[in-house]
Amino acid sequence: MTTYSDVSLMIDGAWTKGANGRTIPIVNPATEEVIGQVAHAETSDLDRALAAADKGFRQWKKVPAFERYKIMRKAAELMRQRLDDIAAIMTMEQGKPLYEAKIETNLAADIIDWMAEEGRRTYGRIVPARGENIHQLVMKEPVGPVAAFTPWNFPINQVVRKASAAIATGCSIIIKGPEDTPGSCAQLIKAFVDAGVPAGVIQLVYGVPSEISQYLIPHPVIKKITFTGSTPVGKQLASLAGAHMKRVTMELGGHAPAIVFEDADLEQAVNVLGANKFRNAGQVCVAPTRFLVHEKVYPEFVERFTTFAKNLKVGNGLEAETKMGPLVAERRLHAMDSIVSDAISKGAKIQTGGQRKGNKGYFYEPTVMTDVPLNAKIMNEEPFGPLAPITPFKDFDGVMKEANRLDWGLAAYAYTRNSRTMAQVGAAFESGMVSINHHGLALPEVPFGGIKDSGYGSEGGVEALEAYLNTKFVTALGM
Ligand code: NAD
Repeated sequence: MTTYSDVSLMIDGAWTKGANGRTIPIVNPATEEVIGQVAHAETSDLDRALAAADKGFRQWKKVPAFERYKIMRKAAELMRQRLDDIAAIMTMEQGKPLYEAKIETNLAADIIDWMAEEGRRTYGRIVPARGENIHQLVMKEPVGPVAAFTPWNFPINQVVRKASAAIATGCSIIIKGPEDTPGSCAQLIKAFVDAGVPAGVIQLVYGVPSEISQYLIPHPVIKKITFTGSTPVGKQLASLAGAHMKRVTMELGGHAPAIVFEDADLEQAVNVLGANKFRNAGQVCVAPTRFLVHEKVYPEFVERFTTFAKNLKVGNGLEAETKMGPLVAERRLHAMDSIVSDAISKGAKIQTGGQRKGNKGYFYEPTVMTDVPLNAKIMNEEPFGPLAPITPFKDFDGVMKEANRLDWGLAAYAYTRNSRTMAQVGAAFESGMVSINHHGLALPEVPFGGIKDSGYGSEGGVEALEAYLNTKFVTALGM
């Protein structure tokens, strides 16, 4: 039986409680009990983290990629060995069902492995010169110490994409982890440290997010910023980074359209979209959000999808039969109430759900809505919860106009049996990622990222490592 422990900061190879010993309580969202405390970093802790990252970078960049790879592979193995404990810690602090926490932990190990392998293939190139006896070299160098800011919805995976790309390329990193869910994130850092990542290469801090980002981003030691979270916060951080000319990756919100054409396999569409709508209680940036269904199959889709939502077993993620856990924190219950009451006031019909479930734990009912007007909040703001508005459409042009109406462009989905429609829709979505007839996103080897207000940069595929590398050109006559 795993027990939840207090969470410390990792600075310069040592776990520490922070300069003043201040802490932030950690709440189990399924029970509302305080299960531990997380250390709160003061400015002096951040200064130590910066000095360590500076020193760590100077040493780590000289370590051959093959040696970095070996340490990373060991970290991945430790994650697999510690799977049961790490997943239980994640469920206790975040709420997601245990099997989802296990998938996340295993995927983290796969991401570390993949980034480690790719790190070994960080090659430069030789460009043939125009003149005799000239050598033109293109070299890839680590960008330097990184400041990373990560959220609570995937407490490990949002971190591992950043940390393993940074470490694989020879960078050091300071991670400002999620205060709501610090324990599982700390377990990931522990795996890296236990595997032999040297002191100073990886630091983990918690505290007041805005104070930490305001301090770290402009700091001269930091050369690269990476953030996952909401678009408004992302814009603030990107502006600050821009003012100091720092490299940036922004993984922001989304409002994914999910189009179901009249020739779709409805059973597959309901099962795959339903599973991904309510996975992690809908707290997923790539969750399907606006369900756009051809008018001919609309009534049947609504009926089947509503039944799917009604049948979901909502409960404590530690219980084996649970399919959907609580929201991460009380503030998210208020956010759901505000979005749902706004939709109802504008004429939406609730097919199922629409309220908090019980009065203990932050559970919200899986919710399906129809007749939602375009000016309702849910059609314009990221709900980040288990809410599914379903709208009928008549023709291709009309549905693509709606699909691309918002400023976001992270993920988009479509269901059809027609390959021509697949090709058309794949080209027409204004989105960083498109998945047709299945949910095929977020594997380590494929790009992961958005366009428009969903941010820029990628956290998967070879692009993920590029984001941590500078390109240097050297030309020499007579070399
Ligand atoms: P929030 O915007 O307060 O926090 C989201 C994340 O950003 C948290 O991890 C937080 O610590 C961090 N953050 C906030 N302000 C920051 C700052 N100034 N500097 C550095 N980090 C900062 O909101 P919330 O209540 O936690 O979540 C609500 C919204 O956040 C959701 O509706 C969703 O849009 C967004 N969100 C997105 C993702 C994602 O995967 N893209 C993950 C979590 C939350």
